[in-house]
Amino acid sequence: MSKAIVVFSGGQDSTTCLYWAKKNFDKVEAIAYDYGQRHVAELTAARHIANEAGVHLHIFKLDLMSGISHNSLTDQEMNVDADQPENSPPNTLVEGRNMLFLTYAAVFAKAKGIQDLITGVGQSDYSGYPDCRNVFIVSLNQTLNLSMDYTYRIHTPLMWLDKSEIWQLADELGVFELVRDQTVTCYHGIPGSGCGNCPSCKLRNRGLNKYLNARKNGRIE
Ligand code: ZN
Repeated sequence: MSKAIVVFSGGQDSTTCLYWAKKNFDKVEAIAYDYGQRHVAELTAARHIANEAGVHLHIFKLDLMSGISHNSLTDQEMNVDADQPENSPPNTLVEGRNMLFLTYAAVFAKAKGIQDLITGVGQSDYSGYPDCRNVFIVSLNQTLNLSMDYTYRIHTPLMWLDKSEIWQLADELGVFELVRDQTVTCYHGIPGSGCGNCPSCKLRNRGLNKYLNARKNGRIE
């Protein structure tokens, strides 16, 4: 029986990955992290979606992250940048986040005899997050293999998809409405279409409109 673990946040990307995993593996479990993010809405959505998907969700606490560096997702005092500053990543970047998330997921997976890890990172809509790039994932995969003398396979089904193609994938997986209405992507923690103004909402809604236009015009079967 094939088994996989999804790094899950209750957002659009990882929810699409959760259903991609359910299609491609016999048994799927998910991990969400409580790392001091501002909005418990994300974890609430994660619990709800995992429950609906019939996937066992483990929530790991990573308190350390909000104490050792500053970013607007964990620091209540900082405002989220309305637009990305030039030549530097946005202040929503949580340094090292994907490396830590995948590393803990890998330790947990090995203990359960699972080799396949799934993450929703991608570099098409690269927003200046270095740990969303394919070169990083390939490198970490090798490092994890070496560090634990085990063969992991990190799957990144969204790596080369833009936001509109991610909506298309959700639609193909039969979860378009669920992703549109129940996921939390907004930096202000508002589910579904969100606040509409933060960089994450803008990216999400731009992709959604592009996809809906393509679907309406029959460019997507
Ligand atoms: Zn928003």
